[in-house]
Amino acid sequence: MVCIAASIMIEIVQFNEDITCVKTATEQDGNAIMFVYAFLVRDALFDAGCANAIDEIREFARKNEINDVYITHSHEDHCGCCTVFEKTASIFATPATQEILRKPPFYGEFFNYVWGQPEPVSDLTDLPKTFSIGDLRFEVVPVPGHTMEMVGFYEPEKKWFFSADAVPLPSKKRIAMPDENIPQMVATMEKILTMDIDILFDSHRGAIHSPQKHIQTRIDYIIEIQQKAKELHESGKSIEEMQQILELEGPWYLELTKGRFGIDFFLKSVLFDKVVV
Ligand SMILES: [Zn+2]
Repeated sequence: MVCIAASIMIEIVQFNEDITCVKTATEQDGNAIMFVYAFLVRDALFDAGCANAIDEIREFARKNEINDVYITHSHEDHCGCCTVFEKTASIFATPATQEILRKPPFYGEFFNYVWGQPEPVSDLTDLPKTFSIGDLRFEVVPVPGHTMEMVGFYEPEKKWFFSADAVPLPSKKRIAMPDENIPQMVATMEKILTMDIDILFDSHRGAIHSPQKHIQTRIDYIIEIQQKAKELHESGKSIEEMQQILELEGPWYLELTKGRFGIDFFLKSVLFDKVVV
């Protein structure tokens, strides 16, 4: 891919008296390729934006008191600006996430263009099971599937759940990464449906009020494809044939991911992956 200077978008939207949405993205033809959300909850930041937006996040950090940063998982759109906070805040992550944050891999030119390359972070602290932000009390909830170590943050009094990438968008997305476990993702979404939630804070869509129907749509879509794929598998069809019969087509950027995402990974996962936790 031709390397051109990308322009960066940042949108800061106050959601309520406690929460500010911090949306970052790389701009292409005047539009965000895809926004990722970090959330400022009083003086704590949930996730830290994409690395392309590091100057904008540094500016945001100068204007806002941020004492703690809680990271949901290691993907580059969620932890790209951690180094901004290394000297001024505690950065919390699970041990598995910390390992990747300390030595972030290079995900290829396309992802480098879309999100940017995170710098290694050295000063990290283990994520506790619960934490407080003033009188808000959060539970750290494992939400495995998209990555196995991913966590969300639940405030039961307010009925807020910060779900990271646990409920993928769009609802009919049919691509996956090789290490994504789609049946596990379904089990996680079913668990989220049992929780008392008024607002889901999704990392790519922002606040979703009464999210249960939205989550169920995603579960139903996966289960439907899974059933059809299982029937085709039993009748001896290959993954490639299944893809054609089910008319599964990828988004415009699929080729550019150079194998980080594939429809075949999605089909293999719905067929063969097991729920492990
Ligand atoms: Zn992710």
